Amino acid sequence: EPVHVASFVKEAAESFEKAYDRRVDVKVYASITVWTDRAKLRQILYIFLDNARKYSDKEICLLVEKNEIRVIDKGIGIPSGDIDKIFDRFYRVDKARSRKTGGFGLGLSLAKDIGVAIGTDVKIESKEGKGTTAIITLSDISEYMATMNEKTE
Ligand code: ATP
Repeated sequence: EPVHVASFVKEAAESFEKAYDRRVDVKVYASITVWTDRAKLRQILYIFLDNARKYSDKEICLLVEKNEIRVIDKGIGIPSGDIDKIFDRFYRVDKARSRKTGGFGLGLSLAKDIGVAIGTDVKIESKEGKGTTAIITLSDISEYMATMNEKTE
């Protein structure tokens, strides 16, 4: 189904804010539409938002720019040596620091699997002590939609 990304992220941010009483700063710089499974895309986004909440106590930013959705936090970050492994099932960075947040190390592996299922690339960039950015790459179909509308008019 066609998903208009701007309203999709605003909706997701609002329900997340209500559920966790954490502010999410939404910034939309691109008007893109994607052909995808809305519920599955939302699951990926929630996994990233949930990690941003668990591993930072500052504001979370949700950015739509070019063909990407970015979930940005200024939290504890991920050591560079662990970055390649965080998408593995049951992998958690340093049990001590992760203990208080609970979790099984499944969120990101699930996000990756859902991404594969819906043909959407997901990745993480991070600096230890600075913060983490989770990136969902989308393919915009708004131009295609526009030409289809012209043809049917
Ligand atoms: P759960 O199974 O509940 O999702 P989890 O958060 O431990 O538990 P993942 O979401 O797979 O599992 O994340 C794997 C590990 O990557 C985490 O344990 C954490 O150490 C690290 N991590 C993930 N997202 C972030 C983030 N935004 N900031 C810092 N570390 C992160």
